Amino acid sequence: MNELDDFLLNQQSDEGDSGAFEEDLEPEETEEEPDEEVTNGKVCSLCGTEFTEEHGHPVVCKDCSGNEAAQGIKTATFPEVIGG
Ligand SMILES: [Zn+2]
Repeated sequence: MNELDDFLLNQQSDEGDSGAFEEDLEPEETEEEPDEEVTNGKVCSLCGTEFTEEHGHPVVCKDCSGNEAAQGIKTATFPEVIGG
C-alpha cells in the first residue's frame, strides 16, 4: 500500500488513463481433475466425453473433431461411453 504515490499518480494521469494500473490478468485455472485421462485418450481433450477404451494418445470426440481447437488432435476411434 502506498497511498501517497497512488494519489500523485492519479493526479498526473487524468487524461484518458482509466484503469491503467489493473494488472490482475493471471489466468485462473481451477480445474482439479488430472490431465492423465486426456493424455492417454480416455476422454475427449475438449469436452471430456469418456470413451470405452483408452486410445494411448490425446483424442477428441466426433462432436469436437470439427472444432478449431481440435486441430492436430486425432479423432477418437473407440465409441463414447453414453450414460456413464
Ligand atoms: Zn468432445
